[in-house]
Amino acid sequence: MVLFKKSAALQKWLGKQRKKGKIIGFVPTMGALHDGHLSLIEASKKHNSITVSSIFVNPTQFNDPADFEKYPITLEKDIQLLEQADCDVLFLPSVSEIYPEWATANEQYDLGYLETILEGKYRPGHFQGVCKVVKRLLEKVQPGNLYLGQKDYQQCMVITKLTELMGWKNTMKVNICPTLREPDGLAMSSRNMRLDKEEREKAPAIYRALTYIKSNLQKGDLQPVKVKALQMLVDQGFKPDYIEIADAATLQLSNEWDGRQKLVTVAAAFLNEVRLIDNLLLND
Ligand code: AMP
Repeated sequence: MVLFKKSAALQKWLGKQRKKGKIIGFVPTMGALHDGHLSLIEASKKHNSITVSSIFVNPTQFNDPADFEKYPITLEKDIQLLEQADCDVLFLPSVSEIYPEWATANEQYDLGYLETILEGKYRPGHFQGVCKVVKRLLEKVQPGNLYLGQKDYQQCMVITKLTELMGWKNTMKVNICPTLREPDGLAMSSRNMRLDKEEREKAPAIYRALTYIKSNLQKGDLQPVKVKALQMLVDQGFKPDYIEIADAATLQLSNEWDGRQKLVTVAAAFLNEVRLIDNLLLND
């Protein structure tokens, strides 16, 4: 695996590969890698001649400074895992490499409705920060294929919208890969490392609540299943931000189901200091 810390060197190297006709697959991450991340590397390796991964804990997407400070960093292990996964390139930029214009960066992305609901509502500014970093990374890597995890459902929609806003829709395919879970259902996440033993035991309740919604979905009023699922989280000591049902394609929140519309259920909840998110497609 080749490691680049500087954008110029990365771009020069990738430029040469592109001239040789190589197709580039890209997996952006914030590190503290787990099997979920590695499944994206594997997906990229299947369909591209070169797989690039990046590790960058992006300060502009953390609306809560304490969350940024406590974000797990396991760089040596990450490099080992990427080597084992046969990743071709790791881009490991510093903050000044990504944001040389740090103080003056105030671009805005028109995300419309997507930014007003769920993660957009509960984490103000989060998706603007995601767009800032992903735009910069995509400009540098210029992949033919981008790999994202369904685990961050709304983020997948935001980044897809970003590629449209930037005019990259026809040159860059966004590939959304399934959520990898622990045997008890808990979605793999770097933040799981921050759970203590007791919290870790409670954490799968978020998956159980989503599964409850999936198993009890009925035509008509969706309020009763949502209320019950919320209670399941509260009973396990979670402080939920939301547990919602929405249109799978637009994320328009739904209170009624006609029996046909494709739906997704999404949740975000705190277990003490740690905020977990998860989602399930209801009728895929
Ligand atoms: P992160 O490092 O958390 O920013 O995630 C980097 C990428 O890995 C994002 O596209 C995530 O959606 C994806 N990802 C995170 N957790 C999982 C998981 N459990 N299964 C599949 N993909 C994941």
